[in-house]
Amino acid sequence: MQGLWLSKGSWAFKSDLLDPVVGLGESLVAVQATGICGTDLALAKGYYDFNGIPGHEFIGRVVSGALTGQRVVADINLGCGQCLRCQAGVHRHCAERVVIGIHQRAGAFAQFLSVPDKNLIPVDEGLRDELAVLAEPVAAALEIIEQMPKPLPSRVLVVGAGRLGLLVAEVLASFDCEVTILVRSLERAAHLQNKTIQVVTSIDSESFGWLVDCSGTSSGLTTALQAAMPQAILVLKSTLTDAAGVDLSPVMVKELTVLGSRCGPMDKALAWLGAGHLQAPKLAYYRFSEIESALAAAKEPSIFKVLLEPDKPSPLS
Ligand SMILES: [Zn+2]
Ligand SMILES: [Zn+2]
Repeated sequence: MQGLWLSKGSWAFKSDLLDPVVGLGESLVAVQATGICGTDLALAKGYYDFNGIPGHEFIGRVVSGALTGQRVVADINLGCGQCLRCQAGVHRHCAERVVIGIHQRAGAFAQFLSVPDKNLIPVDEGLRDELAVLAEPVAAALEIIEQMPKPLPSRVLVVGAGRLGLLVAEVLASFDCEVTILVRSLERAAHLQNKTIQVVTSIDSESFGWLVDCSGTSSGLTTALQAAMPQAILVLKSTLTDAAGVDLSPVMVKELTVLGSRCGPMDKALAWLGAGHLQAPKLAYYRFSEIESALAAAKEPSIFKVLLEPDKPSPLS
């Protein structure tokens, strides 16, 4: 099959990838569209030492398995099913877990992938591909709501207007939070659809009791630490692999609560998207064979998100 192979940080389009092995209790899914996110770009820099087919944000159609014919998205964390964490329902923290397209499991940057049936979530036919493909990052944004103590603080600062930061701002605003987003380029702010979101390019005081760092940079984290009021909650949402040089003393001095946040509830993400909170985000579509152009487009502030599609319609879909 056709798709992308990532090895030692370099991307290659291949037409001779081995078809996925479909195990017991798994389905074969034909990929319809798949998103490039910050994690994919981090994998290319060596994060998780990933060699293989990346891609974890996708919408596809089951071509063989229990849900044949169904459009689906997937919970990308596959736990062992046996350990105490899996038994307690937190399989995303299973020590033996593999993660589709991120850690020891082939992902969606190919014509097909195999997914355990229990990880598949059917998508309502009324939800368009261009929105359903955002379910994974929307779920990650909704996870903040799941984790935060209730009632939610009324104000929040989102640091960074990348792919995830924009979605986090939209999701939090939909929960009636007063959202301020700190952007480097005002061009990114043009993607925001909820008009209640305030856009700023600098913060000059310790004025937020709740902050979400989506910047993925040490300078963004530093800004968030400075903008936090005493006893604030700081949610770390993006993967910052090198925080060298970040002064963490504000965490202690201001007695901040730091909350790490990763994957979230896919079913709630589909419901959120289905409720119409997001309309026609500005997407750019590329074929797998156009990966170089796609990666260049992923750096363009004028594009909300880059999607990849299979090069030719798969014969089975
Ligand atoms: Zn992602
Ligand atoms: Zn387990």
